Amino acid sequence: MIQDIYPKKFKNEYIVQKPKDNDFIIQFDNNCILLNKDNSFVKYHQIKEDINLYYCFSIDNDSVFLTTDLNSSLYCRLNVKELRYITPKWLAFLSVGAYQLNKWLIDNKYCGRCATLMNSSSEERAQICPNCNNVVYPKISPAIIVLIKDNDRILLTKYAHGFGRYALVAGFCEIGETLEDTIKREIFEEVGLKVKNIKYYKSQPWSFSESLLSGFVCDLDGDDKVILDTKELKEATWFTRDELPDTYDDISLTQELMRAFKYNNL
Ligand SMILES: [Zn+2]
Repeated sequence: MIQDIYPKKFKNEYIVQKPKDNDFIIQFDNNCILLNKDNSFVKYHQIKEDINLYYCFSIDNDSVFLTTDLNSSLYCRLNVKELRYITPKWLAFLSVGAYQLNKWLIDNKYCGRCATLMNSSSEERAQICPNCNNVVYPKISPAIIVLIKDNDRILLTKYAHGFGRYALVAGFCEIGETLEDTIKREIFEEVGLKVKNIKYYKSQPWSFSESLLSGFVCDLDGDDKVILDTKELKEATWFTRDELPDTYDDISLTQELMRAFKYNNL
């Protein structure tokens, strides 16, 4: 998955530091990341002017900083939808993490309580209001992805809008729910099925939706007739192992769950 970057090591301790020559300088502009003209990442030693920087995190000894001060006309653009496919994978993970923090900084530029311009804390990854002392940390929303099994079949879905490939039932936790409650509710809402034997698989930080995805496997309980929520989905189809589409990548928990089922590892 995208976060599996071994032997590289992700270091998210918030220790404000000065940039080193080889550190990454990242700026987003209208849903694109700015890259050098040769499509390489911008490094600190390539910056001639004085710019403001926000420390994000490090991978091994390479630190990542956000800025908004680059002259965007001097750089190439890559749409953020493509970030997950950047190779090597640790650069994909680095760039989506920067994307998540950039969105958080934009969303919390002003205090949600009193509309004052927020300051970045020097001690922790937090935005602080100098007027009312409101402290805002990066939002991480719990969500589930669930593979529904019926003996040799699993249920694949396609969203009504946006992402076009086959997916699994997924959704955000609502207030007052356990993960198991969310699984049962989402499955019933989206495809009208009941399930049992819910078992945890693995989790994945998913920066695009600022969520922590928890992956589960469960068994169909009773009738296999799908009742589709057409606002959310345009398709939900049972696939046998042999019929499963062979378009696997090494990025998402969804794809790993599907691959694990196809090769009898669940
Ligand atoms: Zn405030």
